[in-house]
Amino acid sequence: MESLGVLLLHPMNAYLEQELDRRCRLHRFWEAPPGAPLDEFLRAHAGSIRAVVSNPAYGVDAALIDALPELEIVASFSVGIDHVDLAKCRERGIRVTNTPDVLTDDVADLAVGLSIAVLRRIPQADRYVRAGQWKAKGDYALTTRFSGKRVAILGLGRIGLAVAKRAEAFGCSISYHSRSEKPVPNYKFYANVVDLAANCDVLIVACSLNAETYHIVNREVIDALGPEGVLINIGRGAHVDEPELVSALVEKQLGGAGLDVYENEPFAPEQLFGLDNVVLVPHVGSDTEETCRAMADLVLGNLEAHASNKPLLTPFSGKRVGIIGLGRIGLAIARRVEAFDCPVNYYQRTKQAYPNYSYYPSVVELAANSDVLVVACPLNAQTRHIVNREVMDALGPKGVLINIGRGPHVDETELVAALAKGRLGGAGLDVFEEEPHVPEALLGMDNVVVVPHMGSGTYETRKAMADLVLSNLEAHVLSKPLLTPVV
Ligand code: NAP
Repeated sequence: MESLGVLLLHPMNAYLEQELDRRCRLHRFWEAPPGAPLDEFLRAHAGSIRAVVSNPAYGVDAALIDALPELEIVASFSVGIDHVDLAKCRERGIRVTNTPDVLTDDVADLAVGLSIAVLRRIPQADRYVRAGQWKAKGDYALTTRFSGKRVAILGLGRIGLAVAKRAEAFGCSISYHSRSEKPVPNYKFYANVVDLAANCDVLIVACSLNAETYHIVNREVIDALGPEGVLINIGRGAHVDEPELVSALVEKQLGGAGLDVYENEPFAPEQLFGLDNVVLVPHVGSDTEETCRAMADLVLGNLEAHASNKPLLTPFSGKRVGIIGLGRIGLAIARRVEAFDCPVNYYQRTKQAYPNYSYYPSVVELAANSDVLVVACPLNAQTRHIVNREVMDALGPKGVLINIGRGPHVDETELVAALAKGRLGGAGLDVFEEEPHVPEALLGMDNVVVVPHMGSGTYETRKAMADLVLSNLEAHVLSKPLLTPVV
């Protein structure tokens, strides 16, 4: 497709740009002389531009289409095509492609990640540790759990379904609103968004943006969600009436929000910056290396198919999760990550009869065959420093270590060195060797999330734990069998 002239208005992805440059005649607008207006640039190259590669930040409107008489195809580096004037494209017979499916899992992961981050206050807890407050002020305040919540999905399409599947694995009940009811008997359909919001704890916006879904989350919906409810938006900013959202959050009429998208990107409302019940990320739903590469390949494949008169295309993947200790918590993790299409590997002393999970007889082998290694075993003499340098090296520079077991499971000195030298890709740590002390070197690292031993720190769980302690004491006093005897 060397003869295909392609317009790129702005850098989007280095790999995509490099391949477009290699395979087509690439016109980069941003390399025009500084200050040169777009219309001048378009006039100079209009004769050879037959394709535009766009994304939500750099759309294709009627004026751009009119300026390009030879335009044959708009290949969007996104699934949402609300930024392309589709009516105009239809009128001119211009083909439009997007990048569905390959990003579904990442955006669904982020929706669940934001839900947990808001309810469990993960970014705030990380800041608490880094600011030295764990040592100074003691335990972090209790949070609210995500598992078991009533999750409502607005738009049960590819991403909405992937969110539902993940939330189900967290024991959540699922309800949804779409234009039509779907053949999913376990999910409750609501014909109207206010009713949906009134009957859920977490409302996740995952619909496409169109005239009907503009401000679909208005003040009435926000009020129906209420002071205990949480809004997650991974759709588009314009789905939500942002000034109403801001005032509801500021006035505590809404419980919390996790936002990836905003009405006027790259601007996020500053009134939200100081709020503790809000988690903000900068439109990164599909921004993983793997997915951006797959999206770029889909853009390139579509352009190639177009140039050679072939049908336009599509493909996908899940991280390998290794779990040390497939006990109660380990199994709960396995069930949840399975819903993210992650193959599950595990190590413990004895192999179990789990047909879907692969057993490795050593931690080093487990680490070598996992992308994410999760420590979920009890601490004893054999499991102290079970994650040592050899294990970290087997996990490698792209590997991620998650420790929700006990600090001494991991050789912390080796962990710090491995992260500092790039021998290990990243770490998520709830526990440390000498709590509340956290190694200083971790606090400045970008690829590390540190929270102050708050794994079970939700109101619901701590109440259940307290009830169990009281019941054990009562059973002891009444000479009845203990509920959870250990010794
Ligand atoms: P999809 O499979 O086309 O799903 C979109 C869903 O929206 C459909 O199920 C549709 O359901 C629903 N919908 C459309 N109009 C509606 C209306 N008026 N009322 C209620 N529901 C409506 O698309 P997808 O791949 O899941 O992507 C969904 C959206 O996510 C994209 O359009 C994009 O805006 C957003 N997105 C964001 C990021 C990010 O980085 N944050 C990344 C990728 C995508 P019915 O047809 O049944 O109504």
